Amino acid sequence: MQFKIKKSFTISYAHRLKGYRGRCGRIHGHTANIEVVCVVRHLGENGIGIDFNEIKEKVGSWLNEALDHRLLLEKTDPAGKGLKEMGEDVFLLPFQPSAENLARMIYKKVKEMGFPVEEVIFFESPTSAASYKD
Ligand SMILES: [Zn+2]
Repeated sequence: MQFKIKKSFTISYAHRLKGYRGRCGRIHGHTANIEVVCVVRHLGENGIGIDFNEIKEKVGSWLNEALDHRLLLEKTDPAGKGLKEMGEDVFLLPFQPSAENLARMIYKKVKEMGFPVEEVIFFESPTSAASYKD
């Protein structure tokens, strides 16, 4: 027996895939919906597995701080250096900022926060998603 607890978040971000020949190689934006799925086997006395508010406060705060309204670039992307020098708040990542890699990064962070995360599903658009689980 298990319960799945799912919390959704929305962020807006810009990115590009370095070296990609095509539209994803241009700097462009997305409004992404992120679903964080946790699994618990036991409920507390209040009938709750994990308080939605706890996920919202911890994961939501981090997502807002780290990713929301940011430009996400792979660290060797030449656009990153130039924009940083101009004072832009660019988030340079050690990997391509694809939906797959962002799902994995969020999964690791949520796990590090102590939540029993099973899967993170990253909807780059309403019809395109990538998910990650260990
Ligand atoms: Zn994109």
